[in-house]
Amino acid sequence: QKYAPSKERYDKMNYRRTGNSGLLLPEISLGLWHNFGENDDFKNARNLIKCAFDHGITHFDLANNYGPPYGSAETTFGKILKKDFKNYRDEMIISSKAGYDMWEGPYGNNGSKKYLISSLDQSLQRLNLDYVDIFYHHRPDYNTPLEETMGALDLMVKQGKALYVGLSNYKPKEAKKAFEILKELGTPCLIHQPRYSLFDRWVEDGLLNLLEESKVGAICFSPLAQGMLTDKYINGLPKDSRAIKDGRYLKTDMVLENLLKIKALNEIAINRNQNLAQMAISWILKDERITSVLIGASKTSQISDSLKALDNIIFDNDELEQIEKVLKM
Ligand code: NDP
Repeated sequence: QKYAPSKERYDKMNYRRTGNSGLLLPEISLGLWHNFGENDDFKNARNLIKCAFDHGITHFDLANNYGPPYGSAETTFGKILKKDFKNYRDEMIISSKAGYDMWEGPYGNNGSKKYLISSLDQSLQRLNLDYVDIFYHHRPDYNTPLEETMGALDLMVKQGKALYVGLSNYKPKEAKKAFEILKELGTPCLIHQPRYSLFDRWVEDGLLNLLEESKVGAICFSPLAQGMLTDKYINGLPKDSRAIKDGRYLKTDMVLENLLKIKALNEIAINRNQNLAQMAISWILKDERITSVLIGASKTSQISDSLKALDNIIFDNDELEQIEKVLKM
């Protein structure tokens, strides 16, 4: 059956300007790190993308190695694009990345021009696209000159294989230098993608200020700390949760260690008429330096649920103080 996107898809979402660029991104974007691999249910994957798009989520974030196996999330997304989104490519912002382990041998990892250029070519084949909207260097590589890595990003744009470029997981010092090199090359850095959540606040120590000063956007990943910042673990470990089902990156120990904080934060959320997932997302969006919050989802109901965060992104001082107190517990 042919997919017809909701006619109301742009009615509720807000779009924020990415740094000083011309590009607007939705306040909530969807990432395909989990739930789009070879062994994940294709129908569910397809419904997740449709559900997101129907609600104004125009931005979909991928990387060469999302799966498992590596590459399979791009393949899955490519199939969904072909089946359902042929007429909507120009309403979508699609990103990919390279920087982590991808293929065997010395050219399948890190930050060389050789790796980045061939990886983007592979991603385009899997996605069945001529270009991605944003291409990121996924993490810094201290053994390759920044000039080489940034030169590779610049080349992709000049070749028309990426419209914009970004950096992920770069600390302020190397990010600043990279921004300068990119500017000189004529391909300004569009956006930085760091981890940021109530449980991981490293970006508050310099990075967000640098992004504001440099007029570079910020899109924050794992805003729910992979699902810990929701109410799902409060009464035990559900069988269908990431901690139980996957466990590669989210360990049950991490969940149990944080349980007291999770319960206390949940109480604060309830007093704001939100659930914890919604509060965790709103708490990031209260900061105008943030362009977009990059969520993941295993079910369409989670997308609808998380979108309700947008109804209340203002915190009073009392709420903020209560949150700080819990995080210091
Ligand atoms: P989140 O912190 O948003 O965690 C998403 C998970 O939380 C879901 O898969 C689901 O897990 C659970 N969840 C989501 N919404 C709800 C809800 N409303 N109620 C209850 N549970 C919910 O983000 P991710 O860790 O998935 O990361 C998001 C994206 O960020 C990735 O897909 C990727 O694009 C990007 N990323 C980038 C990295 C980088 O280095 N640049 C690194 C990591 C991620 P469950 O399975 O338990 O249902």
